[in-house]
Amino acid sequence: MNSIEVKNLKKYYDKGSVKAVDDITFKVPKGARFGFLGPNGAGKTTTIRCIMGFLHKDAGEIYIQGEKIDPIKNVEYRNNIGYLPGELGLYKNMNAMQLFKHFMKLYDMEINWKYVEELSNRLELNLDRKMNELSKGNKQKVGVISALMGKFDILIMDEPTSGLDPLMQREFYQIVKERQEESNCTVFLSSHVLPEVENFCDQVAIIRNGKIIEISSVQELKDKSLKEFELDFTSNSAMNEFMSLLRNEYSGVSIKYSMGNHLLFTVPPKESRQLLKVISDTTWDGDFIIDFTIKHSSLDNIFMQYYKGGEIK
Ligand code: ADP
Ligand code: MG
Repeated sequence: MNSIEVKNLKKYYDKGSVKAVDDITFKVPKGARFGFLGPNGAGKTTTIRCIMGFLHKDAGEIYIQGEKIDPIKNVEYRNNIGYLPGELGLYKNMNAMQLFKHFMKLYDMEINWKYVEELSNRLELNLDRKMNELSKGNKQKVGVISALMGKFDILIMDEPTSGLDPLMQREFYQIVKERQEESNCTVFLSSHVLPEVENFCDQVAIIRNGKIIEISSVQELKDKSLKEFELDFTSNSAMNEFMSLLRNEYSGVSIKYSMGNHLLFTVPPKESRQLLKVISDTTWDGDFIIDFTIKHSSLDNIFMQYYKGGEIK
């Protein structure tokens, strides 16, 4: 079963001149950890707001837990979704506790207060401070907790880690991972930073200029990704010799860094095997190459390839 299904969704602004979401289709299976990725302005928030029924779509269908939704007639499906909006419109004079109680009444849900306390400890959030006294990151934590505090089957989070420092980002992913494993809930989150979700998500859809340009498992993306080679040579001249060989014989090579005896470059997967042979041969030949490592280039690089593919500046 799919927890979320979006079919041919369209949402245009400004009398059709801004095609924010332009005929997109994707499925989020139950229990998935799904990353919805794309640069700023790609259409992520618009899509999410259409799913939540806070924005009126121009065309297409949206299904939640297999049921076609019609937010004008019925918004009850929202009660089953832990939602973190991209922009938090928080109630300035309330503290986090008051706000949670307010949501509890608004959405008619039960809150696991022990869990709220655990989350606020783990995220280092003081629940007694008023919203307008909190920093951006701490406000974001309030939003994160309110999306997690109920028993939801689906979590929809729009750029959940925005404003959080790296340590808190890691804690956030750890919390959601535990939550997902315990309850098998479906997680749909958006981000514009791919390496960040690379370890959390199992599937991703990439959106650019309102169109989905890739839907794939994270593993498939990695398999397609550039290989990154890092080499140490016996001398700078050995390195330069090797670099000219690379330039002459490997069209897909992109040199990232070269300094002293140290070289870093990327190669498309199809060229990397042959190159590996050259490297190992050269290694035995009078220690020309002293040391080397090869890894998947991070998803960041793949993402950049997608970004560069279009009119993204
Ligand atoms: P993302 O969340 O991926 O950054 P958005 O969904 O916020 O992207 O925006 C998609 C596109 O729609 C952008 O070009 C943005 O400028 C435009 N847009 C968003 N909201 C509005 C609006 N209320 N009126 C007009 N254009 C909008
Ligand atoms: Mg957004």
